[in-house]
Amino acid sequence: MSEYKIRPHHALCINFFIGKGYSNDFTENMNHVIENLHNNPLTEITIGKDMICSKCPCTDCQEKAVSYDRKVIDFCGISGNMSWNDLKKVVHEKIISTGKLHEICGDCQWFYICGKKET
Ligand code: SF4
Ligand code: SF4
Repeated sequence: MSEYKIRPHHALCINFFIGKGYSNDFTENMNHVIENLHNNPLTEITIGKDMICSKCPCTDCQEKAVSYDRKVIDFCGISGNMSWNDLKKVVHEKIISTGKLHEICGDCQWFYICGKKET
């Protein structure tokens, strides 16, 4: 797996991350990933398990996760790998700042948190 393999919808999850998650391992890894992304690496866009999923205990999320990924790709016009800063910028411009988060992942168990922070 590429060091910076990322599902596109995880750019949203990172934006709204408040330091809590599915397990201690998950949260530690998420913090580590976010710290590394500050260096603006080239990310490998994937619709599948990525550097965040690798430490997540969830096993029954794939159908929803794939649908979120496809919607982010569609809404943002993503066509290939991109730098982290470009990915962050495009999800902000096309989804977060336009109030479309609920159209991507309104049925996620965490939407009651992320939806409130949407700006
Ligand atoms: S609602 Fe769920 S999928 Fe959407 S940004 Fe929050 S954690 Fe990620
Ligand atoms: S395994 Fe599922 S819930 Fe866990 S980080 Fe990956 S997409 Fe999100």
